[in-house]
Amino acid sequence: MKSIDLAPLKGKKVLVRVDYNVPLNEQLEVTDTTRIVRTIATVKKIQDEGGIAILMSHLGRPKGVAADKFSLKHIVSKASEVLGTPVQFLGDVLDADVEKKVATLKPGEVALLENLRFHAEEEAGDENFARQIARLGDLYVNDAFGTAHRAHASTATITKFFPGQCYAGYLLYEEASNLDMVLNNAGHPFTAIIGGSKVSSKLKIITHLLDKVDNLIIAGGMSYTFLHAMGVKIGNSLLEEDMIPVAKDIINRAHLKGVDIYLPIDNICADKFDNNANQYITTHNDIPEGWEGMDIGPRTIRKFAAIIKNANTILWNGPVGVYEFPNFEKGTQSVALCVAVATMSGAFSLIGGGDSIAAVNNYHLANQVSYISTGGGAMLEYLEGRELPGIKALNEDK
Ligand code: AMP
Repeated sequence: MKSIDLAPLKGKKVLVRVDYNVPLNEQLEVTDTTRIVRTIATVKKIQDEGGIAILMSHLGRPKGVAADKFSLKHIVSKASEVLGTPVQFLGDVLDADVEKKVATLKPGEVALLENLRFHAEEEAGDENFARQIARLGDLYVNDAFGTAHRAHASTATITKFFPGQCYAGYLLYEEASNLDMVLNNAGHPFTAIIGGSKVSSKLKIITHLLDKVDNLIIAGGMSYTFLHAMGVKIGNSLLEEDMIPVAKDIINRAHLKGVDIYLPIDNICADKFDNNANQYITTHNDIPEGWEGMDIGPRTIRKFAAIIKNANTILWNGPVGVYEFPNFEKGTQSVALCVAVATMSGAFSLIGGGDSIAAVNNYHLANQVSYISTGGGAMLEYLEGRELPGIKALNEDK
């Protein structure tokens, strides 16, 4: 994958696939600019080198039909503000006058095309549609890591039309390099903390990580299926019955591979799923009937802290309790703190997944971890060991 640093940008019309699938409120105003912010470096690079940045993205799920509420025109003023430069709206990629509009753009200018998913051909990865997009540019940059797990016209098929002229933007390059580092070049001990509600959604990641990590901390709602599989009483805690054999298999495989698995050894339980529910802290990991595990207990916090602080590489995905309820957030907060402390002592830490990111933000620790991956589904697939179509297409362009 070639970085945009290697691209001859001067005087070129650069088609940049970004992921501006930002949240909008009912007034169609952008409520979170993170995805735009993360593309600033790439857009600025093109401007500074005298190129013309033609940005293209999707927004929401219009399913192949143009609809005002999904129009990227609503984000133009926010994008201009965040990028610190006027962004011209070009309209639809298939409009008769779009080529004329592109021809008037001058070096250093930035423009934005309409939502590509107004055409079903985008998600179908249609070759003709990719050719139509490609006619507007001289070279192609992909900076949409959040969409790199999709083989769409603008993320994958399009590279065919720019042989030797396809580059990774800074965001895509940085995300892939950091994830790659953690998976393939981690310093040891390597500790992964996997939390969240479901074993089924994290199964592939756990399986892939068994070949990489020294320590695997499994916590959150999903840990109760593992505990149940080990014969522990879990009361009314979350349980995925069909995952019990899978959990047993993971425990056996970890043992064979020399990976140490850590599960909660005590729990903060509630008599209902409510922030104000009655609480009960177990002395060991058995949970009585009528109670459900909502957070890790104090002994578990101490145990996990020791493992995390000793790590050289840390990967954290998923909260270790129902952290949205202030009365059950202590475990997640302490994990976030331990990751920050370990990072301060020299460990490399990578945090991913909406809830873990929200947690480090809530506790003002975002600047104290090494890298926050905002890739969502793309990040999960990367960690599962899958080659993402958007990255594959760039890798195949020599
Ligand atoms: P996921 O999307 O699978 O990463 O799960 C995130 C969700 O898991 C968060 O909304 C947490 O509230 C939830 N969660 C974490 N621990 C528990 C638990 N012990 N019981 C129920 N839900 C939990």
